[in-house]
Amino acid sequence: MDTGRKQAIILMGPPGSGKDTQAELLARELKLEEIKTSHIIEQKFAAAEPNDAVMNEEKRKYKSGELLDQKLVEEWTLEAIASAAAGRGLIANGWPRRVEEAQTEVEVLEKYYGKNIKVVTIALSEEESVKRNSKRRVCRANGHPILDPDITVCPEDGSPLITRADDIPETIRKRYQVYLSETALIIDFLTQKGYNVITIDGEQSIEDVHREILNKLW
Ligand SMILES: [Zn+2]
Repeated sequence: MDTGRKQAIILMGPPGSGKDTQAELLARELKLEEIKTSHIIEQKFAAAEPNDAVMNEEKRKYKSGELLDQKLVEEWTLEAIASAAAGRGLIANGWPRRVEEAQTEVEVLEKYYGKNIKVVTIALSEEESVKRNSKRRVCRANGHPILDPDITVCPEDGSPLITRADDIPETIRKRYQVYLSETALIIDFLTQKGYNVITIDGEQSIEDVHREILNKLW
């Protein structure tokens, strides 16, 4: 298989690292498809037949915040890898999440991209992660995200602003620690496979992070 011009980028970063923004910028710049687990799930749900019992059960779990069937999500991820390989390649945004997933997913990535796979992690301190995430409030009526600390009611619907349970400092610290321990295992695994893991300082401006990623990719 000719893997010469195709590339895959695995992008990782803790909550608040601006990973989503960077994935979007890179996808546009390098003409790669951004593949995010939540997008895959939403597309699958949108395409499901209304009387598909398996999918309805997964939808119910998703709505109530329960973990989906991980085998199924992995199967969907592998399908998405295969379909993105028809184009220039992909950016894996936020996956693999665990080392067990990395083992399967990287094997399939290598099938399509050979060793043309780059691994980028955006580094951010725990304090900065907490600071950035606890600033985020949402409106009670529609969950519109509000970042400006001077705003007191939602500009779109006038409803009061609240901090989501996910965004209280204690929860952010827990998510941060889980991210660090899972990522350390994934990085060990990738390093053993001979990958060079690129680390970017995530405490710079969005533009500087983007520029640093591009510089270090080549
Ligand atoms: Zn609102």
